[in-house]
Amino acid sequence: MDEKLIDGRAIGNIIREEIKERVQNLKNKGCTPGLAVIIVGDDPASHTYVKNKQKSSVEAGMKSELIQLAATVSEQEILERIAQLNDDDTIHGILVQLPLPKHIDENRVILAIDSAKDVDGFHPVNVGKMIIGQNAYLSCTPYGIIKLLERTNTQIKGKHAVIIGRSNIVGKPMGQLLLQRDATVTYCHSRTKDLAHHTKQADILIVAIGMAKFIKADHVKEGAVVIDVGMNRDENGKLCGDVDFDDVKEKSSLITPVPGGVGPMTITMLLKNTLLSAERVCVSGKHEDK
Ligand code: NAP
Repeated sequence: MDEKLIDGRAIGNIIREEIKERVQNLKNKGCTPGLAVIIVGDDPASHTYVKNKQKSSVEAGMKSELIQLAATVSEQEILERIAQLNDDDTIHGILVQLPLPKHIDENRVILAIDSAKDVDGFHPVNVGKMIIGQNAYLSCTPYGIIKLLERTNTQIKGKHAVIIGRSNIVGKPMGQLLLQRDATVTYCHSRTKDLAHHTKQADILIVAIGMAKFIKADHVKEGAVVIDVGMNRDENGKLCGDVDFDDVKEKSSLITPVPGGVGPMTITMLLKNTLLSAERVCVSGKHEDK
């Protein structure tokens, strides 16, 4: 095995086995974790993501419910479907696949999900709780990256973490989770001047830009841990990350490949959040504060 490689598939599989065992324990007590996914329209990429999420939840022993709606559906109908799922005791996690068609307000849709069932960790209540260090559902991609760092025994405390990208679902929560674990955090984005000056100081470099092979060896400090969130197609149509893997690998001490790095962890943490929700309900009997 390549010692520099962070194998997200292998780590994800270990965590999925742990989840499966805990799901079985809940089922033995008469409680089956349930995940509902709402998908709107027929974007092929979104359908592939949703299929993978469903397949993974069934493999973990969970109940999986798919609600498919036409691209022309009204916002009101989506909100009504969410309200039904909020009231459904067999559903512990609700996910609305993004993006939504332009005529629908994503913020309103996310806000309609009961924050106790918001297993994507996008609801403002969960985001707020996460920032002030309270128990919350964590956004799945950054949560998965924390698990990759933990399971490879990467020290976070006292390290300088540089994050490229400040999206609400990856960059911003990523920095907060690292800050809580005592890293010193720098955020970079499209308006950052002299990007390489910042990235070369990173002990841990997290790249979430969405530009194929953008980060080169010149951006990276010798011995850095490099986490590549990007999912792009290269000039030959092959899946690749935001990091030029072949160029950067030698300089890094640990690096995630694309595919097979961060990607498998995102779905794994969605399963974990659904499990946590079901465990809470089955123990306390109510969907309340975690
Ligand atoms: P996003 O919302 O488009 O955000 C991209 C970020 O990159 C923005 O903050 C942007 O800065 C910054 N950026 C753009 N060009 C830059 C440049 N030249 N230099 C420095 N920063 C730059 O994307 P996202 O949703 O965070 O996703 C990022 C990538 O991760 C995409 O490839 C996506 O497909 C992938 N992704 C993968 C997973 C997974 O599970 N593996 C999950 C989510 C996302 P501004 O804010 O200034 O515009």
